[in-house]
Amino acid sequence: MKRTEIEKKLKKELDKDRYTHTMGVMYTAAALAMAYHADIEKAMYAGLLHDCAKCVPNAKKIKLCKKYHISISAAEKHSPFLLHAKLGAYYAKKIYHVNDSEVLHAIQVHTTGEPGMNVLDKIIYIADYIEPNRKKAPNLEKIRRIAFENLDKAMIQILSDTLDYLKEKGEDLDPLTLNTYDFFINNR
Ligand code: FE
Ligand code: FE
Repeated sequence: MKRTEIEKKLKKELDKDRYTHTMGVMYTAAALAMAYHADIEKAMYAGLLHDCAKCVPNAKKIKLCKKYHISISAAEKHSPFLLHAKLGAYYAKKIYHVNDSEVLHAIQVHTTGEPGMNVLDKIIYIADYIEPNRKKAPNLEKIRRIAFENLDKAMIQILSDTLDYLKEKGEDLDPLTLNTYDFFINNR
């Protein structure tokens, strides 16, 4: 599907804030792709679709993942909102007819990250965190600057802040987030 068609459809599927966030991620991903000589179109498609399954109710997320034979980890079973990444990649393919495996992968890993993630994966993960409509995160100003200087440094800062936040709030932590953090620390 053309990007403009997807935008129209998403405007109906997502709530207003989620749509605003989505557009922010799309353009931020484009800017990061420019800065790092990555594929701008792929970055825009992945940014546009990264949260396409976010507004599906959690119980329905579980149901749909079972129906489509999408694996559910222990962390995802406990925190079904995490599934919007995997389900989003599935939707991107089946509903929005995106066949590019890199775009689909970036959508799939955008919530937890993944050890060994590639440039496009990092761009989407970071764009999701720094897009202009985000206001609350600590160190946001600093991370926005680092994002355009060094992707791996930005990943470490975001992952570390995310782990701190989850600990502080006593929220569940997907072990994959911790593995991703360790990966970047061990490879810097
Ligand atoms: Fe998301
Ligand atoms: Fe998002």
